[in-house]
Amino acid sequence: MVEQLVIIGSGPAGYTAAIYAARAQLQPILFEGFEAGGLPGGQLMTTTEVENFPGFSEGIQGPKLMKEMRQQAIRWGAKLITDDVITVDFSQRPFTIATSDLEVKSHAVIVCTGATAKRLHIAGEEEFWNNGISACAVCDGTNPLFQNVEIAVVGGGDSAAEEALYMTKYASKVHLLVRSDRLRASKVMQERILNHDKIQVHWRVLPISAHGSDILQSIQLQDQKDSSIMELKVSGLFYAIGHTPNTQLFAGQLDLDEKGYIKTYGKTTATNIAGVWAAGDVQDHIYRQAITAAGTGCMAALEAERWLVEK
Ligand SMILES: Cc1cc2nc3c(=O)[nH]c(=O)nc-3n(C[C@H](O)[C@H](O)[C@H](O)COP(=O)(O)OP(=O)(O)OC[C@H]3O[C@@H](n4cnc5c(N)ncnc54)[C@H](O)[C@@H]3O)c2cc1C
Repeated sequence: MVEQLVIIGSGPAGYTAAIYAARAQLQPILFEGFEAGGLPGGQLMTTTEVENFPGFSEGIQGPKLMKEMRQQAIRWGAKLITDDVITVDFSQRPFTIATSDLEVKSHAVIVCTGATAKRLHIAGEEEFWNNGISACAVCDGTNPLFQNVEIAVVGGGDSAAEEALYMTKYASKVHLLVRSDRLRASKVMQERILNHDKIQVHWRVLPISAHGSDILQSIQLQDQKDSSIMELKVSGLFYAIGHTPNTQLFAGQLDLDEKGYIKTYGKTTATNIAGVWAAGDVQDHIYRQAITAAGTGCMAALEAERWLVEK
Protein backbone atom coordinates (compact mmCIF):
# COMPACT_ATOMS: atom_id res chain seq x y z
CA MET A 1 0.00 0.00 0.00
CA VAL A 2 1.25 3.47 -0.87
CA GLU A 3 0.54 6.28 1.62
CA GLN A 4 -0.32 9.77 0.44
CA LEU A 5 1.81 11.66 2.95
CA VAL A 6 4.52 10.85 5.47
CA ILE A 7 5.72 13.49 7.96
CA ILE A 8 9.08 13.00 9.68
CA GLY A 9 9.52 14.76 13.05
CA SER A 10 7.20 15.67 15.90
CA GLY A 11 7.98 19.24 16.93
CA PRO A 12 5.58 22.15 16.31
CA ALA A 13 6.26 21.89 12.54
CA GLY A 14 5.51 18.16 12.30
CA TYR A 15 2.37 18.18 14.46
CA THR A 16 0.99 21.26 12.69
CA ALA A 17 1.59 19.66 9.30
CA ALA A 18 -0.16 16.52 10.61
CA ILE A 19 -3.19 18.50 11.86
CA TYR A 20 -3.64 20.26 8.50
CA ALA A 21 -2.99 17.14 6.43
CA ALA A 22 -5.31 14.99 8.53
CA ARG A 23 -8.09 17.59 8.28
CA ALA A 24 -7.56 17.50 4.49
CA GLN A 25 -8.17 13.73 4.71
CA LEU A 26 -4.68 12.77 3.57
CA GLN A 27 -4.42 10.22 6.42
CA PRO A 28 -0.84 11.26 7.17
CA ILE A 29 1.64 8.99 8.91
CA LEU A 30 3.92 10.89 11.27
CA PHE A 31 7.19 9.42 12.49
CA GLU A 32 7.70 11.10 15.86
CA GLY A 33 11.29 10.01 16.35
CA PHE A 34 12.61 8.18 19.38
CA GLU A 35 16.26 9.04 19.97
CA ALA A 36 17.48 10.71 16.79
CA GLY A 37 17.60 14.51 16.81
CA GLY A 38 16.08 15.03 20.25
CA LEU A 39 12.92 13.84 21.94
CA PRO A 40 9.51 13.00 20.49
CA GLY A 41 7.75 16.36 20.81
CA GLY A 42 10.91 18.24 19.86
CA GLN A 43 12.91 20.99 21.51
CA LEU A 44 10.06 22.37 23.62
CA MET A 45 10.09 19.13 25.60
CA THR A 46 13.32 20.40 27.16
CA THR A 47 11.99 23.70 28.41
CA THR A 48 9.60 24.93 31.09
CA GLU A 49 7.47 28.04 30.43
CA VAL A 50 6.71 29.03 26.85
CA GLU A 51 5.53 32.64 27.11
CA ASN A 52 5.39 33.67 23.46
CA PHE A 53 3.21 31.09 21.74
CA PRO A 54 -0.04 32.92 20.89
CA GLY A 55 -3.19 31.70 22.59
CA PHE A 56 -1.75 31.17 26.06
CA SER A 57 -1.96 34.50 27.86
CA GLU A 58 -0.49 33.05 31.06
CA GLY A 59 2.17 31.00 29.23
CA ILE A 60 2.22 27.22 28.96
CA GLN A 61 4.76 24.55 29.86
CA GLY A 62 6.64 23.32 26.78
CA PRO A 63 5.78 19.61 27.26
CA LYS A 64 2.09 20.49 27.85
CA LEU A 65 1.98 22.53 24.63
CA MET A 66 3.47 19.64 22.68
CA LYS A 67 1.06 17.14 24.27
CA GLU A 68 -1.85 19.34 23.16
CA MET A 69 -0.50 19.54 19.59
CA ARG A 70 -0.04 15.76 19.56
CA GLN A 71 -3.60 15.16 20.79
CA GLN A 72 -4.94 17.54 18.16
CA ALA A 73 -3.13 15.61 15.40
CA ILE A 74 -4.50 12.29 16.74
CA ARG A 75 -8.01 13.72 17.05
CA TRP A 76 -8.06 14.52 13.31
CA GLY A 77 -6.81 11.06 12.38
CA ALA A 78 -3.04 11.34 11.95
CA LYS A 79 -1.30 8.01 12.56
CA LEU A 80 1.70 8.47 14.85
CA ILE A 81 4.65 6.08 14.98
CA THR A 82 7.16 6.67 17.78
CA ASP A 83 10.33 5.60 16.02
CA ASP A 84 13.34 7.05 14.24
CA VAL A 85 13.44 7.12 10.48
CA ILE A 86 16.84 5.68 9.59
CA THR A 87 16.76 5.81 5.79
CA VAL A 88 14.82 7.57 3.06
CA ASP A 89 14.95 6.97 -0.69
CA PHE A 90 13.74 9.93 -2.71
CA SER A 91 15.33 8.68 -5.95
CA GLN A 92 12.34 6.54 -6.93
CA ARG A 93 8.59 7.11 -6.71
CA PRO A 94 6.78 6.35 -4.54
CA PHE A 95 9.36 7.41 -1.96
CA THR A 96 10.57 4.93 0.67
CA ILE A 97 10.84 5.86 4.36
CA ALA A 98 12.21 3.24 6.73
CA THR A 99 12.74 2.68 10.45
CA SER A 100 14.73 -0.28 11.78
CA ASP A 101 11.67 -2.54 11.47
CA LEU A 102 9.17 -0.83 9.18
CA GLU A 103 9.22 0.39 5.57
CA VAL A 104 6.60 2.77 4.25
CA LYS A 105 6.01 3.91 0.65
CA SER A 106 4.56 7.37 0.16
CA HIS A 107 3.78 9.77 -2.69
CA ALA A 108 4.75 12.83 -0.62
CA VAL A 109 6.97 13.57 2.37
CA ILE A 110 7.29 16.55 4.73
CA VAL A 111 10.59 16.76 6.62
CA CYS A 112 10.32 18.39 10.08
CA THR A 113 13.32 16.91 11.88
CA GLY A 114 14.33 20.20 13.52
CA ALA A 115 17.70 21.22 14.83
CA THR A 116 19.63 20.65 18.03
CA ALA A 117 21.06 23.58 20.00
CA LYS A 118 24.73 22.92 20.68
CA ARG A 119 25.71 22.70 24.34
CA LEU A 120 29.08 22.86 26.04
CA HIS A 121 28.28 20.05 28.51
CA ILE A 122 30.06 21.85 31.34
CA ALA A 123 29.94 20.57 34.92
CA GLY A 124 26.61 21.55 36.53
CA GLU A 125 24.88 22.14 33.16
CA GLU A 126 22.12 19.57 33.73
CA GLU A 127 21.46 20.87 37.24
CA PHE A 128 21.00 24.48 36.13
CA TRP A 129 19.37 23.89 32.72
CA ASN A 130 16.19 26.02 32.84
CA ASN A 131 17.36 27.34 36.21
CA GLY A 132 19.81 29.84 34.81
CA ILE A 133 21.26 28.08 31.78
CA SER A 134 19.45 28.41 28.46
CA ALA A 135 20.09 28.17 24.74
CA CYS A 136 17.59 30.83 23.65
CA ALA A 137 17.56 34.45 24.84
CA VAL A 138 14.49 35.36 22.78
CA CYS A 139 12.62 32.47 24.46
CA ASP A 140 13.81 32.92 28.04
CA GLY A 141 15.05 36.51 28.33
CA THR A 142 11.92 37.78 30.10
CA ASN A 143 12.16 35.09 32.78
CA PRO A 144 12.25 36.79 36.23
CA LEU A 145 15.57 34.97 36.85
CA PHE A 146 17.29 37.31 34.40
CA GLN A 147 15.81 40.70 35.33
CA ASN A 148 18.32 43.34 36.48
CA VAL A 149 21.07 40.83 37.18
CA GLU A 150 24.37 40.06 35.49
CA ILE A 151 24.27 37.32 32.88
CA ALA A 152 26.71 35.77 30.40
CA VAL A 153 26.37 34.80 26.75
CA VAL A 154 28.85 32.35 25.17
CA GLY A 155 29.77 32.64 21.51
CA GLY A 156 31.45 34.92 19.03
CA GLY A 157 29.21 34.88 15.95
CA ASP A 158 26.18 36.87 14.86
CA SER A 159 23.77 34.79 16.97
CA ALA A 160 25.83 35.41 20.11
CA ALA A 161 25.99 39.12 19.33
CA GLU A 162 22.23 39.23 18.82
CA GLU A 163 21.54 37.33 22.03
CA ALA A 164 23.88 39.60 23.99
CA LEU A 165 22.24 42.75 22.61
CA TYR A 166 18.78 41.30 23.25
CA MET A 167 19.65 40.55 26.88
CA THR A 168 20.77 44.15 27.52
CA LYS A 169 17.03 44.97 27.67
CA TYR A 170 16.61 42.85 30.79
CA ALA A 171 19.97 42.25 32.47
CA SER A 172 21.95 44.86 34.39
CA LYS A 173 25.12 43.71 32.64
CA VAL A 174 25.93 41.19 29.89
CA HIS A 175 29.26 39.37 29.79
CA LEU A 176 30.03 38.08 26.31
CA LEU A 177 32.40 35.12 26.55
CA VAL A 178 34.46 34.64 23.39
CA ARG A 179 36.72 31.61 22.96
CA SER A 180 39.23 33.31 20.66
CA ASP A 181 40.56 36.84 20.48
CA ARG A 182 38.13 38.05 17.83
CA LEU A 183 34.42 38.13 17.09
CA ARG A 184 33.12 36.32 14.01
CA ALA A 185 30.00 38.49 13.97
CA SER A 186 29.48 41.00 11.16
CA LYS A 187 31.28 44.36 11.35
CA VAL A 188 28.06 46.19 12.25
CA MET A 189 27.26 43.77 15.05
CA GLN A 190 30.83 43.94 16.36
CA GLU A 191 30.61 47.70 16.63
CA ARG A 192 27.28 47.53 18.44
CA ILE A 193 28.74 44.99 20.89
CA LEU A 194 32.02 46.75 21.52
CA ASN A 195 30.37 50.16 22.01
CA HIS A 196 27.52 49.01 24.24
CA ASP A 197 27.90 50.26 27.79
CA LYS A 198 26.12 47.23 29.28
CA ILE A 199 28.26 44.62 27.48
CA GLN A 200 31.70 43.48 28.60
CA VAL A 201 33.57 41.16 26.25
CA HIS A 202 35.88 38.55 27.79
CA TRP A 203 38.38 37.29 25.22
CA ARG A 204 39.91 33.78 25.07
CA VAL A 205 37.68 32.27 27.78
CA LEU A 206 35.29 29.35 28.01
CA PRO A 207 32.95 28.45 30.87
CA ILE A 208 33.90 25.14 32.45
CA SER A 209 31.45 24.78 35.35
CA ALA A 210 28.22 26.22 36.78
CA HIS A 211 27.49 26.73 40.49
CA GLY A 212 24.62 27.81 42.74
CA SER A 213 22.05 26.46 45.14
CA ASP A 214 18.69 25.94 43.37
CA ILE A 215 19.46 28.49 40.70
CA LEU A 216 22.64 29.53 38.94
CA GLN A 217 24.80 31.98 40.89
CA SER A 218 28.23 31.78 39.28
CA ILE A 219 30.31 30.13 36.61
CA GLN A 220 33.98 29.33 36.32
CA LEU A 221 35.84 30.52 33.25
CA GLN A 222 39.03 29.07 31.91
CA ASP A 223 41.51 31.28 30.10
CA GLN A 224 42.25 29.54 26.80
CA LYS A 225 45.82 30.79 26.73
CA ASP A 226 47.24 30.14 30.18
CA SER A 227 44.49 27.78 31.54
CA SER A 228 43.97 29.99 34.61
CA ILE A 229 40.51 29.84 36.20
CA MET A 230 38.38 32.78 37.26
CA GLU A 231 34.93 33.03 38.82
CA LEU A 232 32.17 35.15 37.31
CA LYS A 233 29.08 35.88 39.41
CA VAL A 234 26.18 35.63 36.97
CA SER A 235 22.56 34.49 37.29
CA GLY A 236 22.24 33.48 33.66
CA LEU A 237 24.32 31.66 31.07
CA PHE A 238 23.11 31.61 27.47
CA TYR A 239 24.68 29.28 24.92
CA ALA A 240 24.82 30.89 21.50
CA ILE A 241 27.28 28.52 19.91
CA GLY A 242 25.09 27.36 17.07
CA HIS A 243 22.62 24.65 16.17
CA THR A 244 23.04 21.38 14.31
CA PRO A 245 20.22 20.74 11.83
CA ASN A 246 19.03 17.13 11.87
CA THR A 247 19.66 16.52 8.18
CA GLN A 248 22.30 13.78 8.03
CA LEU A 249 19.55 11.42 6.83
CA PHE A 250 18.89 13.55 3.74
CA ALA A 251 22.44 14.44 2.69
CA GLY A 252 23.02 13.62 -0.98
CA GLN A 253 19.29 13.62 -1.71
CA LEU A 254 18.00 17.04 -0.61
CA ASP A 255 19.89 20.26 -1.31
CA LEU A 256 21.49 21.54 1.91
CA ASP A 257 23.07 24.94 2.51
CA GLU A 258 26.62 25.39 3.77
CA LYS A 259 25.46 24.97 7.39
CA GLY A 260 23.55 21.78 6.62
CA TYR A 261 20.02 23.25 6.64
CA ILE A 262 17.59 22.04 3.96
CA LYS A 263 17.21 24.58 1.16
CA THR A 264 13.64 25.59 0.33
CA TYR A 265 12.75 27.56 -2.75
CA GLY A 266 10.82 30.80 -3.24
CA LYS A 267 8.19 31.66 -0.68
CA THR A 268 7.37 27.97 -0.24
CA THR A 269 8.57 24.98 1.73
CA ALA A 270 9.41 23.07 -1.48
CA THR A 271 12.78 21.33 -1.64
CA ASN A 272 14.73 20.41 -4.77
CA ILE A 273 12.64 17.21 -5.08
CA ALA A 274 9.02 17.58 -6.19
CA GLY A 275 6.86 15.91 -3.57
CA VAL A 276 9.24 16.62 -0.65
CA TRP A 277 8.79 19.68 1.56
CA ALA A 278 10.74 20.90 4.61
CA ALA A 279 9.30 22.87 7.52
CA GLY A 280 10.48 24.23 10.86
CA ASP A 281 13.99 24.64 12.20
CA VAL A 282 15.41 22.04 9.78
CA GLN A 283 15.18 24.72 7.06
CA ASP A 284 15.39 27.86 9.22
CA HIS A 285 18.52 29.12 10.91
CA ILE A 286 17.16 32.64 11.30
CA TYR A 287 13.92 32.69 13.29
CA ARG A 288 13.99 29.31 15.12
CA GLN A 289 10.74 29.79 17.04
CA ALA A 290 7.85 27.42 17.74
CA ILE A 291 5.38 29.69 15.98
CA THR A 292 7.48 29.95 12.81
CA ALA A 293 7.98 26.18 12.85
CA ALA A 294 4.21 25.68 13.19
CA GLY A 295 3.61 28.26 10.44
CA THR A 296 5.88 26.53 7.96
CA GLY A 297 4.39 23.15 8.97
CA CYS A 298 1.01 24.53 7.94
CA MET A 299 2.45 25.82 4.65
CA ALA A 300 4.04 22.45 3.87
CA ALA A 301 0.78 20.57 4.47
CA LEU A 302 -1.21 22.95 2.25
CA GLU A 303 1.44 22.75 -0.48
CA ALA A 304 1.50 18.93 -0.25
CA GLU A 305 -2.29 18.76 -0.42
CA ARG A 306 -2.43 20.94 -3.57
CA TRP A 307 0.38 18.96 -5.20
CA LEU A 308 -1.32 15.62 -4.45
CA VAL A 309 -4.64 16.89 -5.84
CA GLU A 310 -2.93 18.06 -9.04
CA LYS A 311 -1.17 14.71 -9.42
C1 LIG B 1 15.49 25.14 25.65
C2 LIG B 1 14.69 25.73 24.52
C3 LIG B 1 13.67 26.60 24.81
C4 LIG B 1 12.91 27.15 23.79
N1 LIG B 1 11.91 28.00 24.10
C5 LIG B 1 11.14 28.52 23.13
C6 LIG B 1 10.07 29.41 23.44
O1 LIG B 1 9.85 29.76 24.60
N2 LIG B 1 9.33 29.88 22.40
C7 LIG B 1 9.58 29.54 21.10
O2 LIG B 1 8.84 29.98 20.21
N3 LIG B 1 10.59 28.71 20.78
C8 LIG B 1 11.37 28.20 21.75
N4 LIG B 1 12.42 27.38 21.43
C9 LIG B 1 12.66 27.07 20.02
C10 LIG B 1 11.64 26.01 19.55
O3 LIG B 1 11.66 24.94 20.45
C11 LIG B 1 11.97 25.53 18.15
O4 LIG B 1 12.01 26.65 17.27
C12 LIG B 1 10.91 24.56 17.65
O5 LIG B 1 10.77 23.47 18.53
C13 LIG B 1 11.26 24.02 16.27
O6 LIG B 1 10.27 23.12 15.93
P1 LIG B 1 10.50 22.02 14.83
O7 LIG B 1 9.18 21.33 14.66
O8 LIG B 1 11.11 22.59 13.62
O9 LIG B 1 11.59 21.00 15.37
P2 LIG B 1 11.98 20.39 16.79
O10 LIG B 1 11.18 20.94 17.89
O11 LIG B 1 13.44 20.45 16.83
O12 LIG B 1 11.52 18.87 16.61
C14 LIG B 1 12.18 18.02 15.73
C15 LIG B 1 11.56 16.65 15.82
O13 LIG B 1 12.12 15.80 14.84
C16 LIG B 1 12.31 14.51 15.42
N5 LIG B 1 13.33 13.84 14.63
C17 LIG B 1 14.62 14.22 14.41
N6 LIG B 1 15.25 13.29 13.67
C18 LIG B 1 14.33 12.31 13.39
C19 LIG B 1 14.37 11.08 12.68
N7 LIG B 1 15.47 10.64 12.06
N8 LIG B 1 13.23 10.34 12.62
C20 LIG B 1 12.08 10.77 13.21
N9 LIG B 1 11.99 11.92 13.91
C21 LIG B 1 13.10 12.67 14.00
C22 LIG B 1 12.69 14.81 16.86
O14 LIG B 1 12.40 13.71 17.68
C23 LIG B 1 11.75 15.96 17.16
O15 LIG B 1 10.52 15.47 17.55
C24 LIG B 1 13.19 26.81 22.43
C25 LIG B 1 14.22 25.91 22.14
C26 LIG B 1 14.97 25.38 23.16
C27 LIG B 1 16.08 24.40 22.84
